[in-house]
Amino acid sequence: MGFTEFGLSDHILQGIDAAGFEEPTPIQALAIEPAVAGKDVIGCAQTGTGKTAAFVLPILHHLAPAKGAGHSGKLPRALVLTPTRELCLQVQQAVVRYGKFLSLRSTSVYGGVGMEQQVSALRRGTDILVATPGRLLDHMQRKTVDLSAVRILVLDEADRMLDMGFIHDVRRIIAAIPTHRQTMLFSATISPEITSLASGILHNPETVQAGERRNPATTIAQHFYSAPQGAKNDLLAFALDAEKMQSVLVFSRTKHGADKIHRRLERRGIASVAIHSNRTQSQRERALEGFKAGKFRVMVATDIAARGIDVSGISHVINFDVPQQPEDYIHRIGRTGRAGASGDAITFVGREEQQYLARIEKFTGSRHAVKAYPGFVPSSPESHVKQGPAPRPVTKPRNKRGGNPHPRFQPGRKRTGHAKLESYSSDSGGGGWSNY
Ligand code: AMP
Repeated sequence: MGFTEFGLSDHILQGIDAAGFEEPTPIQALAIEPAVAGKDVIGCAQTGTGKTAAFVLPILHHLAPAKGAGHSGKLPRALVLTPTRELCLQVQQAVVRYGKFLSLRSTSVYGGVGMEQQVSALRRGTDILVATPGRLLDHMQRKTVDLSAVRILVLDEADRMLDMGFIHDVRRIIAAIPTHRQTMLFSATISPEITSLASGILHNPETVQAGERRNPATTIAQHFYSAPQGAKNDLLAFALDAEKMQSVLVFSRTKHGADKIHRRLERRGIASVAIHSNRTQSQRERALEGFKAGKFRVMVATDIAARGIDVSGISHVINFDVPQQPEDYIHRIGRTGRAGASGDAITFVGREEQQYLARIEKFTGSRHAVKAYPGFVPSSPESHVKQGPAPRPVTKPRNKRGGNPHPRFQPGRKRTGHAKLESYSSDSGGGGWSNY
């Protein structure tokens, strides 16, 4: 498929040509057609997949004046919201680049710089406005921007926007935009929060997905250790010391779980902090700064809270629980081993979590042996309770030899080597964690 098949104007095709693009990327091949047809679109794609052109080209198509016609007015007709000022600038540069042979005007507004230049640019008039939510709200409050003519809205990196706590800002902005419009939402992941946001602001959207990263970076060493739920806190403390880990990101599936892990670590004298969506933006920023500065050895985070975290030097990611969505596994462990540095990703696998591990294996196309953590002997009461000598029969025992399905968790048995987890039963329907 070539760019000519989308029905884009010659001037836009010239811009694409000048950018040196020969073929649409997968996300472009999927998203441009419905977007050009005027449909609402949900695009699941990460940075680097060509997602910017996937929404910029249709915007140019819809707004480009007919040959010979001048500007249609001063008010922005397309609004792109981005989570960060870097992305804001990047998107506007893409608008300029791809729209090189058109006479559309674009402006970017973002925080951290003075308002005056932005006010002047808005006063002069713009067709396409690219903005970060906070600064756009400032302009709205000062009445230096008028969004009443917007008929195309794009939320770029929507998941990051939510992670960064912009949900209320985004909703206030959308409330000021005419409801009769085309809306496109791009996000690296489609979480329940994204689905809920999308359901309120998109109309009958076409969902397209491409460029998904399924394979973790090769710089990340992945380890899976068996751990009954009740022994995970002990194992965490044990592993932190055994491997002398210094900058560790621990993932918990729930906010409640994150707080609990954090409290247990503190009780053991391990400096830690928890970060999740119940924390205010400033609490989260302080936590992150403290972690970056080395004040906290461990940061405990939920999937959602950690999505926007970009901290270099995280040596270990520990999955306190196995993520239920394989995509979350890729995101979680991608916090370490960044920019070519090496990193270790450790996952604690409980008996009930085998099914999630199987999903990860299927998704990534690689199998992983689950081992006992060398030298760790679980001693928590729960781990004892869970390993009766004669467990109730399971429907599909994995242990072909029969007997105790958890031989590695016999109390007091000293473990020296690694063992596989095949003996675990998979009779559970899951841990019942649903609260992100
Ligand atoms: P993005 O994901 O939008 O940030 O784009 C990532 C990079 O891919 C940018 O440097 C684009 O210039 C480039 N790019 C976008 N579309 C194409 C294409 N169809 N062919 C080649 N490169 C592209």
